Amino acid sequence: IISVENLEKSFDGLGVLKGISFTLQKGEVLSIIGPSGSGKSTMLRCINQLEPIDGGSISVCGDTMVTTDAQGKVVYANKEILKAVRLHCGMVFQNFNLFPHMNVLHNITEAQIFVLKKTKEEAEANARLLLKKMGLEDKENAYPCQLSGGQQQRVSIARALALKPEVLCFDEPTSALDPELTGEILNVIKALAQEKMTMIVVTHEMTFARDISDRVIFMDDGQIVEEGNPNELFNNPQNPRTKKFLNRFE
Ligand code: ATP
Ligand code: MG
Repeated sequence: IISVENLEKSFDGLGVLKGISFTLQKGEVLSIIGPSGSGKSTMLRCINQLEPIDGGSISVCGDTMVTTDAQGKVVYANKEILKAVRLHCGMVFQNFNLFPHMNVLHNITEAQIFVLKKTKEEAEANARLLLKKMGLEDKENAYPCQLSGGQQQRVSIARALALKPEVLCFDEPTSALDPELTGEILNVIKALAQEKMTMIVVTHEMTFARDISDRVIFMDDGQIVEEGNPNELFNNPQNPRTKKFLNRFE
C-alpha cells in the first residue's frame, strides 16, 4: 500500500534521510524505532507531504506521489494525486494538534465537511460514532483545553479516522502524555490493529512495538539499520547498533 524507495532528505546540507527503502502491505502494522534524531519523524513527514523530499520516490495506494528522474530531479505528482494521497494517509502527532478554538465535535467534522464535502449532519453522525468508539461520547461539546492529554489524543485519532484513511501514521502518540495516560492510547491503537487498520507507528514503547507490530524497522543516523519481525528483532538483533539501542531499554 506504501512503497518508499531510496528516500533522501537533507536540512541545510546535512543528510537526515540517507536512502530509506521499505514497503508496507495492506493490514500490516509497522513500528519504527530508533534513537532521537535518527530521522523517524522526518520520514513520516515526507510521506505525509509535510516536508519536500530531495531524492527517491514514494508511492501510496498505487499512485506515485513523488519520484526522481534520471537527472536527479525530484518530480511531484499533480495536485489531484497529491490530494488523494493526502487523504489516504492519516497522521496523528505527538502534541495532538487539535484546533484549540473548536469543540471536540467541530474538530472531527471540519475536514469531513470541507475536504470530503459531507453534509454537517453526516459528518456529525460519523463523528459521534467515532467518539463512542473512543469512549468520549460525553465530550463532544468540550474544548481541547478542557480535556486530559489522553482524551485529546483520542480526539485526534477520531479526527484522523473520520477521513477514512487507508493508512494511519502515528508519530510518538504517547510521548507527550503522563505515564498513567499512555495505556489508554496504546489500547486504542491495539484495537485498531485488531481491526486490521494499516498503520505505521513511530514509538519509544518497546513492549508495545513488540506486541502490536507485524514488522519492526530500526533506524539510526538516517538509515534503516535492521528490519524484521518483532520477535527476531527484539530477541535476537543482528546489527551491533540495534543491540546497543535495545540494551538501553532492559
Ligand atoms: P526523535 O526521536 O527525537 O523524535 P527523530 O528520529 O524523529 O527524533 P527527526 O525529528 O526526524 O528525528 O530529526 C532528524 C534530524 O533532522 C535531526 O538532526 C533534526 O535536528 C533534523 N531536523 C528535523 N527537522 C528539521 C528542520 N525543520 N530543520 C532543520 N533540521 C531539522
Ligand atoms: Mg520524532
